Amino acid sequence: LTSILIVEDDIYLQKLYEMMLKTQGFEIIGKAGNGSEAINIFKSLPNKPDIVLMDHRMPIKNGIDTTLELTRLNSNTKIIFISADNSVKKRALSIGVKCFIEKPFSIDQLNNEIKKVIENSKVVNN
Ligand SMILES: [Mg+2]
Repeated sequence: LTSILIVEDDIYLQKLYEMMLKTQGFEIIGKAGNGSEAINIFKSLPNKPDIVLMDHRMPIKNGIDTTLELTRLNSNTKIIFISADNSVKKRALSIGVKCFIEKPFSIDQLNNEIKKVIENSKVVNN
């Protein structure tokens, strides 16, 4: 089962992602409403998530700063960046996020991107 940590400050979107991803057979192991909370949850999880879904515009700590911190904590962290702010795409990809999804997007698109990231990491690990 692919485990996912959802980082999104919009509670409605957070719930929607959770519901849709569960339906697709993914396991949601945490939800955070800002970057600082995401880091605390990440640290507290005994088994780290296979995938982190990362929003950019959030209070307290944005997605870029949170990504930098998470990858410093665990360089194997696979982050999928999700933002309406296309201007941070280059920056996000340059700091190691696995893919950038522009809001709005379809659940099929998200589903496919998660599967792609998991498949690619298997190839690298083998
Ligand atoms: Mg946001």
